[in-house]
Amino acid sequence: MAHRHPSKLTAEHVVHPGARRLLKAELANCAECRAQGDADALGDTAVLESLLHGFVLKRAEQWRNRHSRYPVTLYDLAPPDELRFLDIATREVVRLCVVEGRAGDRVETAGALAELANLTDEERARVLGDLVDGILEDEG
Ligand SMILES: [Zn+2]
Repeated sequence: MAHRHPSKLTAEHVVHPGARRLLKAELANCAECRAQGDADALGDTAVLESLLHGFVLKRAEQWRNRHSRYPVTLYDLAPPDELRFLDIATREVVRLCVVEGRAGDRVETAGALAELANLTDEERARVLGDLVDGILEDEG
C-alpha cells in the first residue's frame, strides 16, 4: 500500500509531485517507494523532465560565476572536475541542457529529453541516479 514519508525535502526547483515523491523516498531510504519512484520517473517524461529541470537549475546556481553569460549549456558551465563525477550518459545529456534567460534562471531541456529517449534503459537509470544524487546532495 502507498504510504507517505514525512520529510524536510527542499529541492525548490522540482515541482512535479511524482518527482518529489521519488526524492522523498530516496531521503527516507525506502526501497519500496524508491522502486516505484524510479519506475514513475523512467515511465513518465513529465517526472523525468521535472528532475532534469531541478538538477540543471541547482547546478547552474552552484557553477555559475559573475562572468557567466547565457545561453550556455550546463556542460560548458560545469567545472571540468565536476563533470568527472557524472556518468558518461549524463555528460551527454547535460551537453543538451541549456541555461538561458538574462539571469540564467530558465532551462531548455527539450534536446536533453530527446537524447534521454534514445538511451538504453540502463543508461537512463544511471542518468536518473546522477540527477537524484545531485538534487539531494546537501539534503537529508
Ligand atoms: Zn516508502
